[in-house]
Amino acid sequence: MKIKNKAILITVSCLFIIFILFNYTIPISSYNNVKASPSSMDEKIIYLTFDDGPSTNVTNKMLDILKQQNVKATFFVVGYKINGREDILKRMYSEGHSIGLHTYTHVYRKVYASDKDFINEMNETSMEIKKVLGIEPKIIRFPSGSKKHLTKNLLEELHEKNYKIYDWNLCTSDGINYNTKANKLYREATQKCINPNKIFLLMHCDANNKSTCDCLESVILYYKNLGYHFKPITPDTPEYYFRVKN
Ligand SMILES: [Zn+2]
Repeated sequence: MKIKNKAILITVSCLFIIFILFNYTIPISSYNNVKASPSSMDEKIIYLTFDDGPSTNVTNKMLDILKQQNVKATFFVVGYKINGREDILKRMYSEGHSIGLHTYTHVYRKVYASDKDFINEMNETSMEIKKVLGIEPKIIRFPSGSKKHLTKNLLEELHEKNYKIYDWNLCTSDGINYNTKANKLYREATQKCINPNKIFLLMHCDANNKSTCDCLESVILYYKNLGYHFKPITPDTPEYYFRVKN
């Protein structure tokens, strides 16, 4: 009888553990707005994002690869780099890519001097883009990410101005070290992601990011083979940002 009771207890415990494992979803507490709707549960999406452009050769080469692969991406551009490269901005836009804001100067001590400075940098870049394309992008990315910089107040101010924030959940080290070899960048871009059904992949398209060009096609093919849909970030894309500072 005792053995029977023990067996029942073990079976119940096992069933309980199995129930917990399969029903408990680990919350991704440091990210926001990542809940999947039932219809999007099975869809695997990747947002290829490129910061720090436009640059002449590198950005153009990336646009060539994206065109060849028939894939749309998002470019978070730096305002001061637009002058003289208007044709590249026009090409991004006409080929169906999204354009977002990544500050005007990209100089941290200026960008993060105050919330007002930060917003002005975004506004300035928006105006620069408007001069060329006639549109005022509302999607933004913080240099080095929003962590440490995004406070509740800043978030409210940005939302008042209809800005939407996008960090990432997968990144390559091409923004830290331009000399990183293409095969290492490929490994980084294809490693396990915190939310594999909705990947925001951070890469860069500064003039120095030649290795990123060299790995881009392989990265695209990797995700194509896994059945991912490539989407550009639009103002309809739910925001995705790191934890807000109190
Ligand atoms: Zn940047």
